Amino acid sequence: MELRIRNVSKSYANGVHALKDVSLTIPAGMYGLLGPNGAGKSTLMRTLATLQQPDAGSIHLGDIDVLREQEAVRQTLGYLPQEFGVYPKARAEDLLDYFAILKGITNRAERCQVVEALLRQTNLWEVRRQKLGGFSGGMRQRFGVAVALLGKPQLLIVDEPTAGLDPAERVRFLNLLSELGENSVVILSTHIVEDVAELCTRMAIINQGRILLEAEPLQAVQEL
Ligand code: ADP
Ligand code: ADP
Repeated sequence: MELRIRNVSKSYANGVHALKDVSLTIPAGMYGLLGPNGAGKSTLMRTLATLQQPDAGSIHLGDIDVLREQEAVRQTLGYLPQEFGVYPKARAEDLLDYFAILKGITNRAERCQVVEALLRQTNLWEVRRQKLGGFSGGMRQRFGVAVALLGKPQLLIVDEPTAGLDPAERVRFLNLLSELGENSVVILSTHIVEDVAELCTRMAIINQGRILLEAEPLQAVQEL
């Protein structure tokens, strides 16, 4: 499995060129997209998640044409936005079960199994009966991961996940990400160098909509 992004450009109506001829080949494993605020990270993440269309370019996930075969991509896509929108009155277990139904896991026994496994993996099993409104930022992000992992996505998009987390929660969260599948493409966008250095096998640096550099994290830090 490989994600191929070719010559992707995007301008917004206000004239901002958020992506300028972006090309990247992203293998399975953890890939870091590093850049300052306003660099174009979210625009690229939302584009990969089929939430918006670029003006030009092509994107392929294996054989799937991401821009033309949205249904096929969405079936194998996990997306964790910057802030996971919370339904404060829902219990974690119930909401995850509900999202599992939406993902097409209709068999009840199978769903129970999937939900339990994900709650354990994200360290939320003990608090599964609690309402999301009482969760800390870190717990919410981990819940977001559980949702994003439903259906074993081959493409997992994680957009600035550590922004609102305290240091202890950040470490927990990054450890969780590092356990994720080696067979899927996991893209982590962040402005924090350490997030990438600690986790990713490859990375790119983006600034003002352009890819400045693509490398192994250590190599990139030396070149900077
Ligand atoms: P980020 O932290 O990724 O830079 P922002 O806080 O800039 O995100 O943007 C948050 C939301 O506002 C996004 O949905 C983005 O599409 C939208 N947005 C950002 N900048 C503008 C802008 N200049 N005009 C309109 N919408 C914007
Ligand atoms: P990042 O995630 O790296 O902070 P974004 O992709 O959010 O970057 O933003 C890239 C540029 O595009 C910024 O200048 C931002 O203000 C602008 N932008 C983002 N979303 C919108 C939008 N919906 N409308 C207009 N401008 C936007």
